[in-house]
Amino acid sequence: MTQLPPPPALGCGAAPVLKERGQREVFCGLTGIIWLHRKMQDAFFLVVGSRTCAHLLQSAAGVMIFAEPRFATAILEETDLAGMADAQDELDREVGRLLERRPDIRQLFLVGSCPSEVIKLDLGKAAERLTRVHAPHVRVLNYSGSGIETTFTEGEDACLASMVPVLPRNEARQLLLIGALPDVVEDQALGLLSQMGIDGIRTLPARRADDIPSIGPNTVYALTQPFLGETHAELTRRGARHIPAPLPFGEEGTTAWLSAIAREFGVDRDTFDAVTEAPRARARKAVARATETLQGKRIFFFPDSQLEIPLARFLTRECGMDAVEVGTPYIHRDIVGPDLDLLPAGPTISEGQDVDRQLDRARTARADLTVCGLGLANPLEAEGLTTKWAIELVFTPVHFYEQAGDLAELFARPIRRKEKLKLKEVAE
Ligand code: SF4
Repeated sequence: MTQLPPPPALGCGAAPVLKERGQREVFCGLTGIIWLHRKMQDAFFLVVGSRTCAHLLQSAAGVMIFAEPRFATAILEETDLAGMADAQDELDREVGRLLERRPDIRQLFLVGSCPSEVIKLDLGKAAERLTRVHAPHVRVLNYSGSGIETTFTEGEDACLASMVPVLPRNEARQLLLIGALPDVVEDQALGLLSQMGIDGIRTLPARRADDIPSIGPNTVYALTQPFLGETHAELTRRGARHIPAPLPFGEEGTTAWLSAIAREFGVDRDTFDAVTEAPRARARKAVARATETLQGKRIFFFPDSQLEIPLARFLTRECGMDAVEVGTPYIHRDIVGPDLDLLPAGPTISEGQDVDRQLDRARTARADLTVCGLGLANPLEAEGLTTKWAIELVFTPVHFYEQAGDLAELFARPIRRKEKLKLKEVAE
């Protein structure tokens, strides 16, 4: 199989982890609805929440206006919150009205929020009851996007995990790709794997309810996102087997990810090389442009998206950056272990957050680029630090070979901008 760059003499696999358990500064899991509703074309997301939740969704969705929106908020009023009204009856009526008006909906997700959790509204029971009423045309599932329980990428994890227990059973040998990628990016991966002779690949989530995959003991699966810990656990519970690999970010990550799948399916080295050679070269060339800016620059990650470890691996090994701290909300070693092994020893690896203490460390480090949430970015910029919003990394297509250059550019752009501003200041 294609020769990959060797792992560092000392990686971060056995590095000590700084565990933080303080206040967090991240969006809640409702945010995932923004990319999930684009992916699942006949699904509807009904948030059972407050006006705050509705505002979050509207502002996160930005200027997108749909003739037929595929998410909404069932607002819990004060009477619901005070236990004075039967919120379950109201929910049944709301869902009935929605499904009558919208026969195009095939999957309905009831999404829990902080308020629905505080009043202990049982959305699991509601989903079972509503599935009985509306099956077989609509399947109703539920998951929590509450900020009490989830960080912003965990919304996708919770959504996919809710689908796994009800997937039909299948005994056939098959490959599943797990994670909601933009269709065009997903098609690139399917195309490469199909050129290697691996066919019949299914994806979760599927684009439409009719394409939902089945699962069984001969199913193997590859994760395309590092934040799918609960989905990974559910898939394992159903007897499927994970193919561990670095995540497909950058040329090296994509090659290592494809190569793990190719090994599983017995693809020979010549075929693998013939399929990957040209896109690898394109990816290297595209990354090299951004590397001119990124080489030798220091980067500090606040814990946000759970993409931090694979991205730090990409930025240090392929773009020549130095990682000072790599903070991530959770470390699922089953998933990010291969990336940790490749990440050269040196940075502080931190899990969880204690925002004040981490801000102190970021201010002391004064890295060339600080990756953080929207709430921290403006104050840090005001203190002269250059920042990158973590959420952009989830909204932008960044996986696989053809996006490797764009991924590197996301980090190079703010640094270049800062350098230009400095030059302008000097000139004035
Ligand atoms: S789920 Fe919680 S954190 Fe998220 S918008 Fe609603 S109230 Fe706010």
